[in-house]
Amino acid sequence: MTDHHYTIFDSLIRYAEKLNFGQIHIKIDNKTGLVAIIAIHSLKRGPAIGGCRMVHYPTIDKAVEDVLRLSHMMSYKAAITNLLHGGAKAVLIKPAIIRDKEAYFEKFGEFINELNGNYITAVDSGTTPAEMDIIARRTSYVTCTTQSGANGDPSPLTALGVRRAIEAAVQFKLNRHSLEGVRVAIQGAGHVGFCLAKELKEKGAHIIMSDINDKALQECVDKFGVEVCAPHEIFSIKADVFAPCALGAVLNRDTINQLNVSIVAGSANNQLAHHHYGALLHERGILYAPDFLINSGGLIHVAVIYDKGNLARSVEQINNLYYTVYDIFERSKIEDKPTNIIAESIAKERLAE
Ligand code: NAD
Repeated sequence: MTDHHYTIFDSLIRYAEKLNFGQIHIKIDNKTGLVAIIAIHSLKRGPAIGGCRMVHYPTIDKAVEDVLRLSHMMSYKAAITNLLHGGAKAVLIKPAIIRDKEAYFEKFGEFINELNGNYITAVDSGTTPAEMDIIARRTSYVTCTTQSGANGDPSPLTALGVRRAIEAAVQFKLNRHSLEGVRVAIQGAGHVGFCLAKELKEKGAHIIMSDINDKALQECVDKFGVEVCAPHEIFSIKADVFAPCALGAVLNRDTINQLNVSIVAGSANNQLAHHHYGALLHERGILYAPDFLINSGGLIHVAVIYDKGNLARSVEQINNLYYTVYDIFERSKIEDKPTNIIAESIAKERLAE
């Protein structure tokens, strides 16, 4: 191993230590082309649950970094929503071609099974219920199969949670009891962005959207009559709410200084480029609804399905995100602390219990 490789590996291990991991498992199977990483952040609250992402990564260390970051956040998400699960995530480094898809996902199923139920998988970017069905031939620690009763796409429930958080923020910050006429700028017209536009339209909000994918954007124009702006304009558009529903790390010094809104509440994971940007939003008087809390609708739904719970209960629990996030807004005001710091401290306390 060269010094260069050692340095990358070393920094990833330090990062894992800093996040208080857990376990990191890697499986390489030359026959099927499987290169899979499962990162289990915490098992303290129960078996760890988290989606399986299959995307291209430029290097293995980028994949490891991604899986660590995501599974750490899954622990926080499960803890703050009081699920009896730990946080985990799996990443499959997408090969140029998968010669035998069945063998590939069966091998991944065997890998999951070797972890004896510590990790439960589900769909995420790049995987669908059809692949969960193949995995289920080799392990029972899988949900979101075509038989599980779940809609394969958790996005509508994620969007429901985000809409409830926007309602709480609009009540708290603007003292408005409804979304009628509230201007919401949504970045991203993908799975969640589309569902959020639908939710907000039904509540009478005025929606402005941007996406780099014209087709996805046009669908929202046709279905919900949204106003459109260029991708770079979304940060400075005058609105009540900015809802990042595309990429992570979109909130940095530059974009926060451009914001012309009172509230930030969207589905994207890890919206703050660094957690100290939560303080900058707080200083600027912009109410930030912590991402890992308000985008937890999909996880709540998936966990309820795996635990064979009542689906109506999961919708009720997602609706109740309104009160959890409202309490955090109140604490932030009373303690004069950024909302992300309060949400993180609640999650950390629960993980330490
Ligand atoms: P998606 O891939 O379906 O949609 C993302 C959209 O963002 C795409 O249409 C893409 O073209 C667009 N986009 C990319 N770069 C952009 C840019 N610079 N400006 C504007 N648009 C841009 O993803 P999704 O499932 O809708 O998820 C959106 C975000 O929410 C992601 O960060 C995801 O991790 C997070 N999230 C999703 C869920 C879920 O249930 N799908 C749950 C929790 C968190």
